[in-house]
Amino acid sequence: MFIPYGKQNISQADIDSVVNVLNSDFLTQGPHVPLFEKSVAEFVGAQHALAVNSATSALHIACLALGLGKGDILWTSPITFVASANCALYCGAEVNFVDVDSQTYNMSVEALEKKLQQAKIDHKLPKIVIPVHLCGQPCDMEKIHQLSQEYGFHIIEDASHAIGGKYKNTYIGSCKYADITIFSFHPVKIITTAEGGMALTNNADLAKKMDLFRSHGVTRNQELMTKEPEGPWYYQQVELGFNYRMTELQAALGVTQLTRLEEFVAKRHKIANQYNEILKDLPIILPYQLPETYSGLHLYVIQLKLDQISKTRKEVFEALRAKGIGVNVHYIPVHTQPYYQNIGFTKEKFPKAEAYYAAAISLPMYPDLTSEQMDYIYQSLKEVLL
Ligand SMILES: *Cc1c(COP(=O)(O)O)cnc(C)c1O
Repeated sequence: MFIPYGKQNISQADIDSVVNVLNSDFLTQGPHVPLFEKSVAEFVGAQHALAVNSATSALHIACLALGLGKGDILWTSPITFVASANCALYCGAEVNFVDVDSQTYNMSVEALEKKLQQAKIDHKLPKIVIPVHLCGQPCDMEKIHQLSQEYGFHIIEDASHAIGGKYKNTYIGSCKYADITIFSFHPVKIITTAEGGMALTNNADLAKKMDLFRSHGVTRNQELMTKEPEGPWYYQQVELGFNYRMTELQAALGVTQLTRLEEFVAKRHKIANQYNEILKDLPIILPYQLPETYSGLHLYVIQLKLDQISKTRKEVFEALRAKGIGVNVHYIPVHTQPYYQNIGFTKEKFPKAEAYYAAAISLPMYPDLTSEQMDYIYQSLKEVLL
């Protein structure tokens, strides 16, 4: 028996909709991509949605649409997947990090404000800040938005963990406090399209730019052309774009997955509540839940109280893996990765992020996790920790 840390849930309706696409005329660039985009945009309350082949691609085209380039600076959290930072480097910009909050492990608003004050003096203000809704718990977007007004930066929400979650009663993705929000549909995430991602915005100009960047910078829209079409075949390349398109198979899967989004997130909450109950007497810190947010609950991360147990984090991790529990660690602080060390992150420290990393373990979290499995995880943790 092996219990993974995350796993997709695929229904017969999901399978049927993908098979229907295989039997149809369009495997790509057909009707399902726009349908999926419209469905997600309506669900979260955003005006524009651009489906792409990954969240990594969505981050890249979001940065490009906001004009990020050489000489610009982007800040994100060190506790995230590397993609949230790499997007800056793709654009030739510089990247830097803001330390995390010790309760939510999201980007700390206090640390952000302090860093902005110093950056203003040093003339090194960021063009873009990417808050990451870690584990699905929304960042304090209202405050980050206020700071963006004061210091003049753009906001991309990395909501790879957070579709279906809410911040102060609005769905994540509504872009109430951000220029662009991005989602991931990787199979471990909350809904899946196998690989896939999406960028949402309420800004028509940003949507138009992202649409160009995801498909070679090529347009058939006469309004975007520099001259009259030479004939009905005519298209123009007006930007240097990429092929980041989502396929019809993926979008059809996304459409049926989306109909179960609320059910998936509700199940994740049920599992988290059950974990909170059964794990409460162990020498661990349970995830903190901000009262004004509804988490997407992509991950359930515990912190070991290392001063109260006789094992290291590595020993605990290995013992749980040996028992067939697919624990994981989210994330290794990005600035400590060899690539980032090589580009100069040897001196700057993000102490709260590093302390979080040293004690973090992600327990299995997915809609089909059973009570029996959770009980087995509890018994195993108890045996390993006590
Ligand atoms: C998964 C993830 C990504 C990248 O998603 P892909 O769809 O795999 O490209 C980016 N940021 C965060 C926080 C993620 O968890």
